Amino acid sequence: MDSLYPMRRFRQKLTDSECSAILESNTSGVLSLTDGSGVPYGVPMSYCWDGGRLYFHCAKEGRKLDIIRANPLVSFCVTDMDTVVPEKFTTYFRSVIVSGRAVIASTENEASRRAALGLFCGKYSPDIPGKEKEISNSLPRVTIIEVIPEEISGKQAIELVRGNENK
Ligand SMILES: Cc1cc2nc3c(=O)[nH]c(=O)nc-3n(C[C@H](O)[C@H](O)[C@H](O)COP(=O)(O)OP(=O)(O)OC[C@H]3O[C@@H](n4cnc5c(N)ncnc54)[C@H](O)[C@@H]3O)c2cc1C
Repeated sequence: MDSLYPMRRFRQKLTDSECSAILESNTSGVLSLTDGSGVPYGVPMSYCWDGGRLYFHCAKEGRKLDIIRANPLVSFCVTDMDTVVPEKFTTYFRSVIVSGRAVIASTENEASRRAALGLFCGKYSPDIPGKEKEISNSLPRVTIIEVIPEEISGKQAIELVRGNENK
């Protein structure tokens, strides 16, 4: 999908599969929202990425849900690398931003909410028994937010690009 703002430093752009791998392997990011009056709100969240969509789980009420109901357009940023290099006065970074539309899963769609919670259990508690029981217990008190990406971009520090070129 074409972006309104293509990356100026295009050599630093990550490929789609690199972006996907970063979303797959990290455990949190910042979900950015803007309410109906234009007031911004960035909130750190755990998440799951199934290769095509982002999933979040949260309580049944709160500021982020109120904002999403008013304005479903969101941005989610995951930092994959943040290595400060003092002697070079810089930071070697790698990050991904997903922009898209948030959908609050209907409570009637139990199967898809259950599936989303299954993703969280698989990612965050892979070797822990009792996942199905945990999912059944938490289902009544959990809201699932799904984000359908409209744009995904990834960027890394120029030093990492040069390092790869020299390999
Ligand atoms: C690494 C990490 C992972 C997390 N994962 C999840 C998750 O998977 N699901 C989940 O629901 N929550 C998660 N949280 C907590 C999350 O950041 C929010 O606190 C929570 O989701 C409530 O959001 P809300 O907008 O409903 O808060 P509300 O209680 O409605 O917020 C009220 C006010 O509290 C303040 N506030 C809320 N959260 C934070 C915060 N994290 N830091 C500073 N101020 C805050 C803000 O000023 C906000 O306006 C995570 C936090 C961290 C740091």
